[in-house]
Amino acid sequence: MPMSQAFKDRLFPVLEQITDHYGSPFHIYDEAGIRETGNQLKKAFAGIDRFREYYAVKALPNPKILAIMKDIGFGFDCSSIAELRLSRGAGGQGEDIMFTSNNTSEADFIEAAADGGSVLNLDDLNLLAKVPSLPELICFRYNPGAKRTGNEIIGTPVEAKYGVSDDQIIEAYRQAKSLGVKRFGIHTMLASNELNYEYMVQTSVMLLELIAEISAQLEITFEFINIGGGLGIPYKPGVAGLDLDAMGRDITALFKNFHRQHGYEPALYMESGRFITGPHGVLVTKAINRKDIYRTYVGVDASMSCLMRPGMYGAYHHIDVLGKDGKTAKEIVDVVGSLCENNDKFAIQRELPKIDDGDILVIHDTGAHGSAMGFNYNGNLRPKELLLTADGKVELIRRAEQVEDYFATLCFEQDLLEPAA
Ligand SMILES: *Cc1c(COP(=O)(O)O)cnc(C)c1O
Repeated sequence: MPMSQAFKDRLFPVLEQITDHYGSPFHIYDEAGIRETGNQLKKAFAGIDRFREYYAVKALPNPKILAIMKDIGFGFDCSSIAELRLSRGAGGQGEDIMFTSNNTSEADFIEAAADGGSVLNLDDLNLLAKVPSLPELICFRYNPGAKRTGNEIIGTPVEAKYGVSDDQIIEAYRQAKSLGVKRFGIHTMLASNELNYEYMVQTSVMLLELIAEISAQLEITFEFINIGGGLGIPYKPGVAGLDLDAMGRDITALFKNFHRQHGYEPALYMESGRFITGPHGVLVTKAINRKDIYRTYVGVDASMSCLMRPGMYGAYHHIDVLGKDGKTAKEIVDVVGSLCENNDKFAIQRELPKIDDGDILVIHDTGAHGSAMGFNYNGNLRPKELLLTADGKVELIRRAEQVEDYFATLCFEQDLLEPAA
């Protein structure tokens, strides 16, 4: 199910006070729920000697959230300079950080190596020659190509820009070894929002078989396999969630089997974003207009610049109207923002309780890839972020953008080039 009953029970009774105090719109995240899911993940893999989640920073890049991840014992998965700095700011150091970039620039490599470094996850064989100084631990991102089918959001592996191809992967480790690399890991990321846990089990089978083969050919061992993120959450009511315990049980059995055959087991790394924070955030917005033309439109004070998933992927996000439930008369509406873009809609032809101006709408499952995907098109400004703390307080964890922020990049010194004829 979307947003949990426990989160509703914590939030809804105080939501009007929160909107009175902070105004709208805002994303609000539920610390207790985030911690609970984080601990469930650790528990599901407790049978593996070394398991670690590296939270995918891009999903919710807020320092307060990253501090919670650190406190749970998670590392950080980054792919940009800003994400590296956020992770270090939250206390991540050295191998607490995986740097999984693609199309990596020299500046990226320099930042990844700064401040105690990070685990470099290389996206291509040719990058070995471009890393300014090769660390002793190297990971490659593997793209199995036609050996696997991908899923809807991420596309099929043969069409994906990521990773080292199947016919290059052994060569990649051979070259790394000959360049003096001593420690090895392997990574792949093939799914996004995948609800079938068996897909992740198959990914583990694939990587364990692959490291056995590479180890045999090159006489190296692997410190870890990283099966990526991509664990799904059910956005629609009535859809079953991913069976985490079954996934933990099956993958643990694979590791024990590997251990028996090879006399050691690698660590298991994962880098989920959505699964950890997705259901534990909501976008709170107020109805400000309604119009009846060919359809009925409910206009709210947020736009797709706060939450792009419906407009970009046609994604479903469940909506509650505060204080209105099954007993309120229903109507079918489109819930829309203010952008001059007809896909600026949070819901299309959705049956909702009849909404009046001033009603508070709660748009579920914005705790990952929500605020983070925000943008400024049409001069729209990104909203604030709040945290409902585990002890029941509400804290501002990012202020709203202001018009001055929008104009900030327009303040600069003149720089005029007159090219020679
Ligand atoms: C986006 C991304 C993730 C996180 O994906 P989720 O669907 O949020 O779990 C993890 N790893 C990499 C390399 C990614 O690009």
